Amino acid sequence: MGAEINRFTRVTGFERTDSHEWLVKTDKGDITCEYIVNAGGYRGHEVSDLAGKFLPIATMEHQYLVTESIPELENHPGLLPLVRDPDDSYYLRQEKQGLILGPYEWGATPHWADGKVPDNFAYELYPDDLDRLEWYIERACERMPILGTVGVQRVINGPIPYAPDGLPYIGPAFGLPNFFHCNSFSFGICQGGGAGKSMAEYIIDGKPEWDLWSVDPRRYTEYADQKYVVARATELYQREYAIAFPHDEWPAGRPALTTPVYERLKADGAQFGARGGWERATWFPQDGDTVEAEASFHREHWFERVGDECRHVRAKVGLLDLGGFSKYEVEGEGAADWLDSLIAGNLPKLNRLTLSYFCAPDGGVVCEMTITRLSDDHFLLITAAAAKWHDMQWLQERLPHENDISASTVNTIKLTDITRDWDTLVIAGPDARKVLQKLTNSKLDNASFPWLSYQPLQIGGTTVRALRVNYVGELGWELHVNTSSTLAVYDALMGAGAEFKIRNFGMYAMESMRLEKCYRAWKVELDSEYSPLRSGLDRFVNLDKPAFIGKDAIQTELDAGLPDVFVALLVDTEGAEAIYGCPIRVGDDIAGYVTSGGYGHCIKSSIALGYLRTDLAIRGTQVEVQILGKWRNAVVGQEPLFDPSNERPRSND
Ligand SMILES: Cc1cc2nc3c(=O)[nH]c(=O)nc-3n(C[C@H](O)[C@H](O)[C@H](O)COP(=O)(O)OP(=O)(O)OC[C@H]3O[C@@H](n4cnc5c(N)ncnc54)[C@H](O)[C@@H]3O)c2cc1C
Repeated sequence: MGAEINRFTRVTGFERTDSHEWLVKTDKGDITCEYIVNAGGYRGHEVSDLAGKFLPIATMEHQYLVTESIPELENHPGLLPLVRDPDDSYYLRQEKQGLILGPYEWGATPHWADGKVPDNFAYELYPDDLDRLEWYIERACERMPILGTVGVQRVINGPIPYAPDGLPYIGPAFGLPNFFHCNSFSFGICQGGGAGKSMAEYIIDGKPEWDLWSVDPRRYTEYADQKYVVARATELYQREYAIAFPHDEWPAGRPALTTPVYERLKADGAQFGARGGWERATWFPQDGDTVEAEASFHREHWFERVGDECRHVRAKVGLLDLGGFSKYEVEGEGAADWLDSLIAGNLPKLNRLTLSYFCAPDGGVVCEMTITRLSDDHFLLITAAAAKWHDMQWLQERLPHENDISASTVNTIKLTDITRDWDTLVIAGPDARKVLQKLTNSKLDNASFPWLSYQPLQIGGTTVRALRVNYVGELGWELHVNTSSTLAVYDALMGAGAEFKIRNFGMYAMESMRLEKCYRAWKVELDSEYSPLRSGLDRFVNLDKPAFIGKDAIQTELDAGLPDVFVALLVDTEGAEAIYGCPIRVGDDIAGYVTSGGYGHCIKSSIALGYLRTDLAIRGTQVEVQILGKWRNAVVGQEPLFDPSNERPRSND
């Protein structure tokens, strides 16, 4: 089709042209183009640097050895199957008449740990280093004695790029228009087909067929520096064949980001997990509790303790330090109309807030944000910690553009990321109002401060942005506090709450309570393959609005009938919960799948959220969910499973 491929041509820089194209500088001249795909492999970060953006990539040494020809294989018809031994951590496969053995060894070795790849390194290997593979070779020979009958013909020790989670970068680069990453593949040969397909869809259709958040380059934000990626990649390489348990909180590279309350929580015994780089308390052991992680697919050692936390929040009051909630402000003439054109529902009235769904043109949910209206044309947008760059880019790219002739609001709308200026403390539970009231002169009763509304509150010497909303479904407030005052406000809340037995709670308790309330989680229940209607969020979609991105597709989908919809299941299981991807069946038909599972400590039932064929998604339908290989009975429940009429968050007591 006329494409030209220039081999042995080094890219040396990028510039933006006046006509919004890219000028690619090379050692053989310049090339102008609309789109750039950085497929620079283990030099992907170097290429990204040329565009002024750091991309976290560490290069690991990976070796395999090739044996001499094995007589039994010479006469063997066909190929032996590929063998993977996850216990001893190696792969073994046939190569011609010999075998290849490739271990993922403990004592992984980052190469060029400072990120600087020598200029002239190309199509080269590292020197052999078989000593560190000795144990693995012996283990493999025990398992496959034929391996030990011949000598080693060749050793390959080469560079493999790793992102901090070992997954590639496939998708848009943050802050660079029409610039995509397609690099950092640790298994690039087998991943190449899907990566190529998705890259083409990004460029031609604007969006890939599948939700690709797990490989989206924007999943790592500014905290992921060189030190971080080397630490994480080393850990990951060593565990390449290890089992990923649902609640494994791997330690490398942590803590990357902490809130001012971190040390207080630590002193209270908190166990932590990282979310979007931020350390968040997961649970709080009590005297005599084991804290050593027992990675498992079954209920873990913290199960009962997390139950205590949930019951305490629902009966009294709890405090959660929710570090890193991403926050943006949108203000200026035209801000309301612009935001309205992006969201499926309605904007909130003054001092009110609402959940909002930002859809792609095909109707899939791209972002979920809480929008609070601070004045007519001034909004606070709050989204997940991990969504910081992803959501920011979605907004930035849709700001009225000078090329957009119909736009009268170019340069009047200001979009600012204020994440690092504000921390978030969540106070929730029946006594939350009593605790907060001790610290402020503002009235907090329903008439003065209704559910789903906003007010600035004076607490001590600081003004806190208080939102009467929370993710656990209780009377409560999200308090957004300027970082310089977070500790003081935390201490004040703990002090005022002492008489009400206030206590910290963690992410595991929050997760259990949000499952009871059936609150969707971004990139878990909500992803770009599902419209808000399929996600059961009809009340946040207004098809009577003249226009919003995705409206036509959602209308068409509705007219055609939804193939499947969100459901909440009560599962009859013991000792293990459903996890993402567990199939749901009715009779012999696979009719859906689970997106999240866990135990609802206050409804005393195992819960699975997921998607189910629409004709079956009716309260009372009996289904089965496969958990750890066993089919378990489950029933479609009435959403929300706890406090169905939302009386608790609306409480005036
Ligand atoms: C020992 C070993 C065993 C492996 N085994 C397997 C396996 O069994 N299965 C599997 O799937 N994967 C395996 N891999 C991984 C696989 O080889 C890589 O993931 C894959 O080659 C990556 O392909 P890529 O195109 O992304 O990067 P690369 O192959 O590294 O290509 C990047 C290209 O970008 C070019 N480039 C870089 N900078 C510039 C610049 N400034 N200007 C112009 N061009 C530039 C480079 O010259 C190069 O051609 C193995 C790797 C090793 C080392």
